[in-house]
Amino acid sequence: MPRSYRVSCIEGDGIGPEIFKSARTVLGTLSDCYKIPFDFVSTPAGDKALKDFGEALPKTSFNAIRESDLCLKAPVGETAKDTIVYLRQALDLYANIRPAKNYSFIESRFSNVDMVIVRENTEDLYVCREFLEDDGKKATAFKIITQKASKRIAKAAFEIALQREASRNSKERSAKQASVVCVHKANVLPVTDGLFLKSCTEVSKDYPNVAFSQMLVDTAAMNLVRNPDSFDVMLTPNMYGDILSDEASQVVGGLGIASSANLSDDFALFEPVHGCAPDIAGKGIANPLSMLFTVKAMLEWLGSQNDDPHCIDAAKLLESAVSSVTSSNIKTPDIGGKSKTDQVSRAISEEIVRQKSGVNQDGEMIKENVLLKW
Ligand code: ATP
Repeated sequence: MPRSYRVSCIEGDGIGPEIFKSARTVLGTLSDCYKIPFDFVSTPAGDKALKDFGEALPKTSFNAIRESDLCLKAPVGETAKDTIVYLRQALDLYANIRPAKNYSFIESRFSNVDMVIVRENTEDLYVCREFLEDDGKKATAFKIITQKASKRIAKAAFEIALQREASRNSKERSAKQASVVCVHKANVLPVTDGLFLKSCTEVSKDYPNVAFSQMLVDTAAMNLVRNPDSFDVMLTPNMYGDILSDEASQVVGGLGIASSANLSDDFALFEPVHGCAPDIAGKGIANPLSMLFTVKAMLEWLGSQNDDPHCIDAAKLLESAVSSVTSSNIKTPDIGGKSKTDQVSRAISEEIVRQKSGVNQDGEMIKENVLLKW
C-alpha cells in the first residue's frame, strides 16, 4: 500500500461547499475502487474563514497547505485577493493551466476546440500594488513583468505543447500542429508587455518543432469566438489569461465545466476556473463537473509526480463515468439538464463503481471502456 496522499481542502464560499462535497463523494469512491489512500485536511480559507477566524487565510491553514502534497480548492468569494492570489505568490504557483475542450457529451456553439491557456500566475497587475493620490481622485496600479517569470511560463507553455502533441493520434496530428501563441498588448505597452513578448520569443528558439506566433489580446479575444479550434496553447500574462479563460470556457460549454491547475515546480493547487456564483448558491443546481474535472487533473498530476498508475487509471475512469452520466441526461441546468448537484455526483459515483466492475448501465459486461483524452 503506498503512503497516503495528504490533500489540503479549501471548501470555499457560495457554491464552493456544494461542489466540494461532490468532489469528496467521487474521490471517496475512486479511493475505494483503486485503493488510493487519501488524507484530507480541512484548511478553511475565504469569506467564511474571515468571519469565523478574523483572517481570510488563517496561519494554521496556510501552514497545513504548505505541508500537504497538494491543495484542492473550491471557489472563494470577496476575499480572493487574500486567499488564492496570495497563495499563488507565496507558494510560487507560477503556471495557471486552464484547458478549454469540446466534449461530445456537452453541447456547445463550437466543435473541435481543444486548447489550453497557460497563464503567468504571479505578477502583472496581480501584484496588487495600488495606491490613491490627490485626495482619492487619482488611482494607480503597478503592472510588473519580469524576464525570469516570463521565460519560465513560456518554457511551461512549450513543454505543454510538446506533451499535447505526443498524446495525439496520427489523425489528430495531421489536423493540428503543436503551436504556442503569445498574447500581449505590446503596441500600447512596449515596456511591460514588450518584455513579456521578447522573453517568450527568446524561449521559442529552444523549441523549433513548436510553431510560435504572437497576437494582440484584443485580436485573441475576437478569434476565440471566431475560430477557437485554431488554437493549441495560448500563452498569456496574468490579467489577459484570467479574462480570456472565462471566454474560452463559454466556447466549450460554460464555466460549469471549467477546471484549472496552479503549478510550481513541486506543489500544485487545483480549483475550478469560476468564482463562487452567489446567484445560484444554496439552490443545489451548481454544476459539479468543474470540480470533478479539477479532481481529474489532480489525479493525473499525482499519478505523474508519484509514478502511480492507480491515480492515472482513476482519472480515466472518472472521465468515462462523467461521459456516460452526462450522455444519459443526468446534468445540471447550466448545460441543459434538470438534475441537482448531488444527483449528478451520486450518479457519477455509481457509474464509477459499475464501470470498475466491468458492467454497463444495462447490466451487460463492458468490453472496453471508451476513455476520452484531456
Ligand atoms: P469571480 O470574479 O470570482 O471569478 P464571477 O463574478 O466571474 O466570479 P462566477 O461566480 O464565476 O462569477 O459566475 C459567473 C456565472 O457563471 C454566474 O452566472 C454563475 O452562476 C455561473 N457559474 C459559475 N460556476 C458555475 C457552476 N459550477 N455551475 C453553474 N453555473 C456556474
